[in-house]
Amino acid sequence: MAGTHQTEPHSITWYACNEHIEVVLDQLVDEAETAPDLFPCEPEELGTATCHWCGSTPSYRLSAQTNHE
Ligand SMILES: [Zn+2]
Repeated sequence: MAGTHQTEPHSITWYACNEHIEVVLDQLVDEAETAPDLFPCEPEELGTATCHWCGSTPSYRLSAQTNHE
């Protein structure tokens, strides 16, 4: 069974608006089983990214690394 099963870190990126940062953060902790990093959104992300909760323009990017499949 050598080299057949490799767990690679999996990265999850979600966005959240000001209003839903807490609920999105909560959900991502649930999903990733680890605390995500929080960054302010870059201006160029605002055209494509949407809040994970409500779909409006986000203010934050949340990024988590997980080994969970
Ligand atoms: Zn929102």
